[in-house]
Amino acid sequence: MQTPDISRAKSAELFEKAKQYFPGGVNSPVRAFKSVFGTPLFIERGDKAHLWDADGNEFIDFCCSWGPLILGHNNDQVREAVAAQLGKGLSFGAPTALENQLAELIIENNKYIEKIRFVSSGTEAVMSAIRLARGYTKRDKIIKFDGCYHGHSDSLLVKAGSGLVTFGETSSAGVPKAFADETIVIELNDKEALRAAFAEFKDQIAAVIIEGIPANNGLLMQSKEYMHFLRAITKEHGSMLIMDEVITGFRIGFEGASAYYEIQPDIITYGKIIGGGMPVGAYGASKELMACISPDGAVYQAGTLSGNPVAMAAGIAALTILAQDDFYTNLNAKTAAFVQDLRQYIAEKGYQVQLFHVASIFWFAFTEQEDIKKASEIDPASMESYKIMHRELLNRGVYFGPSGYEVGFVSAAHTDADLNTAKKHIFDALDIVFQS
Ligand SMILES: *Cc1c(COP(=O)(O)O)cnc(C)c1O
Repeated sequence: MQTPDISRAKSAELFEKAKQYFPGGVNSPVRAFKSVFGTPLFIERGDKAHLWDADGNEFIDFCCSWGPLILGHNNDQVREAVAAQLGKGLSFGAPTALENQLAELIIENNKYIEKIRFVSSGTEAVMSAIRLARGYTKRDKIIKFDGCYHGHSDSLLVKAGSGLVTFGETSSAGVPKAFADETIVIELNDKEALRAAFAEFKDQIAAVIIEGIPANNGLLMQSKEYMHFLRAITKEHGSMLIMDEVITGFRIGFEGASAYYEIQPDIITYGKIIGGGMPVGAYGASKELMACISPDGAVYQAGTLSGNPVAMAAGIAALTILAQDDFYTNLNAKTAAFVQDLRQYIAEKGYQVQLFHVASIFWFAFTEQEDIKKASEIDPASMESYKIMHRELLNRGVYFGPSGYEVGFVSAAHTDADLNTAKKHIFDALDIVFQS
């Protein structure tokens, strides 16, 4: 099979220039294509499910800006809402009605939170949620799970040490050891590890934080039973359960993974989709907990650009569409059919690849293992196959995230024609991966 040859000259030139200005030539590390072949594509524009790079190549996009673009690129309503706000000013540092509107839209349609605070990124939302949990419980330690990503704040750039329950080790230079000592890292889907952590640190654990559905390191679906165990054990010990719904919020459904698992977390964090493609994050909880936040309470948290009016306008436009009946039913059904066809092809060919899937998220794992629930169950060697698939897909005009640990997203803008074209190219790319 011939690999189509696509010119990347302009992107390559822009990347050379970017390397003069930015560490690694990028403003966020995974964009640098270190885990796949070639150099990053510089994107010029997007429309619906399509992207165009600086060389004029067109792609069907399954990265969707890492999740936020559940409506695809250049959605008419979102664009018009942003354009209408632009003429009125970009930022005031004072309250606007737009913040009320977005909050009302979210809280009226989400039974899991009573009050919300807008911030400007997922990282900031999680960092603030941790502070709230610590301020409320008057405890310092937190438990996180190996393989869950919660942004780049100090307390969470921590990886597992050796042993069932250990203090974490920093996963970035520049994080003080004292911070890592407050974070306990355990494996997902392991009740024993949770029990042991609570047995050892009893009254010291402010919170356990988990991704609604872990989707930053493969797609590690947790069982409902395990999630309810997690809810019960945190409650029993007076620790907060923080559900980090930065990916899953407004993705799994309007009420995210909380509704999917039917769990009431103590604090929920949002990001990505909530801003309709603009930089917005948020955290929400009960009225009682949110009363701890400044200026009502003693937990300080602030932001110059928080609740930014242009970003709020984008969020309102996007979430208004998501709140419509059948939005998720349609998107999820479309994704399920797409995944089903891919699985059928894989089964017919007997290829060693699994397709994990929930709602409009999917993940290719190049393994025979049918069930992967922990980060440690992912074989790093399997990423070599992803690299080949990624290269072949890019050459055919299909854009996937530049790492085998990243999931793919289907948006409402992906048409049947887009998905059929993408499928054909994925079949061809898989044929090449497994041709030897
Ligand atoms: C993306 C992500 C974050 C970080 O959000 P940023 O906006 O990149 O700071 C935190 N938690 C989860 C679950 C995420 O997927």
